[in-house]
Amino acid sequence: MTKPDDDKPQRRMRACPICSKLSTQEDYPFCSDRCAKVDLNRWFSEGYTIPVAETDDIDENNIPDE
Ligand SMILES: [Zn+2]
Repeated sequence: MTKPDDDKPQRRMRACPICSKLSTQEDYPFCSDRCAKVDLNRWFSEGYTIPVAETDDIDENNIPDE
């Protein structure tokens, strides 16, 4: 039995997270520039927003100190 892809000098290929094709070295970990942009858009559209402190909802000062 031989180990698959064990002698390849380049990075191990992995599937594109967008379309599951094999990624390319240029656009790693994506298969293409297009999928890289799709992933980027997904970031913005799926609500990966930075948690913002709701400054108008802070009531730590009003918590009774028992
Ligand atoms: Zn892709």
